Amino acid sequence: MKNKMNILVLPGDGVGPEVTEEAIKVIKAVSEIYSLNVQIEKALFGGAAVDKFGNPFPEETKNKIRDSDAILLGAVGGKKYDSLEKENKPESGLLELRKKLNLFINIRPIISFAELSNSSPIKSEYISNLDIVIIRELVGGLYFGEPRGYKNNMTEAYNTMKYSESEINRISDYAFKLSEKRSGKLCSVDKANVLEVSQLWRSTVKKLSENYPNVDLSHMYVDNAAMQLVQNPKQFDVVVTENLFGDILSDIASVLTGSIGMLPSASLNEKNFGVYEPIHGSAPDIAGKGIANPIASILSFAMALRYSLDLDNEADALEKAVQDVLNDGFRTKDILSEGKKEVSTSAMGDAIISKLQ
Ligand code: NAD
Repeated sequence: MKNKMNILVLPGDGVGPEVTEEAIKVIKAVSEIYSLNVQIEKALFGGAAVDKFGNPFPEETKNKIRDSDAILLGAVGGKKYDSLEKENKPESGLLELRKKLNLFINIRPIISFAELSNSSPIKSEYISNLDIVIIRELVGGLYFGEPRGYKNNMTEAYNTMKYSESEINRISDYAFKLSEKRSGKLCSVDKANVLEVSQLWRSTVKKLSENYPNVDLSHMYVDNAAMQLVQNPKQFDVVVTENLFGDILSDIASVLTGSIGMLPSASLNEKNFGVYEPIHGSAPDIAGKGIANPIASILSFAMALRYSLDLDNEADALEKAVQDVLNDGFRTKDILSEGKKEVSTSAMGDAIISKLQ
């Protein structure tokens, strides 16, 4: 482990600055309690960077990334930017960041806390002790495929879903290795009954499975996977899928955990450099009200401790602190149920820090 770690925080837009502020408080507390030398830098990104530089991913931010060991991102986007040219939209900055750093591995743990089983519309027997990991390919597929655009005076639009064998192999290989460390069960999700890209996806994953005789590989069409995730989520352990399907399936899975405000993610490249962020967006409907749930952002920092900084014990302690606060009945509005104590975004951050001490 390096003596000094630099974490670059990109708060972004909407609730992004609110939830990352709580994560920053937690980073400082963990750093102090465990005597770590963590430096925190901030940079503008997304709509906040558009406001200042007219560009969602300015040079100044790119330079700061070069000196960082991990990035903690809030969320980007907002109505005000929706009518901008594609290159200037906050979401384009996000895609450029993922591509520039080659963050092809997106890890989305779907863990349901028993204390929140009343916050989910799904019956608790289906979700108690749920522990799934969705591995989403993050730098290919429909979000990046060329050609893309409008034609015929903007009366037609098109995108391209494209994957190469090597792109499928590298993400599936990560998923197989993770499955070996967990229950040995891997489900690859595609739409091979309709899409050629998915047929290549399926045959490539099947071929790769020969290297992993201890992993029980299954395949599922994405429409069925969406239904099965709600109907019988415990059948899954590790799920691997392409960019768009992973985006949609993980939002569906968030319902199992009670709120999208609970779910962290890690996006890694081959060197384990990572961008850590909640799976939710900028939530403009609740921004500025002090009610956003900061747990996804705080758990994203726990993932940074584990995956980029090699600090498993500290990550365990932080995850336990979140669990303890939920045990004590503290809830932000999105996960509130009868008899529990409603707290603000910052009070939730403070409660988690108090459990660390
Ligand atoms: P969203 O995830 O922002 O919000 C969906 C719903 O979840 C809303 O009701 C919101 O209030 C709620 N929610 C989200 N985060 C929450 C939190 N921490 N605590 C409590 N409730 C929370 O999705 P959206 O409304 O479809 O998108 C809003 C904006 O975010 C758009 O501009 C979109 O492009 C952008 N977006 C960004 C990212 C990202 O930065 N990675 C991801 C998704 C969407």
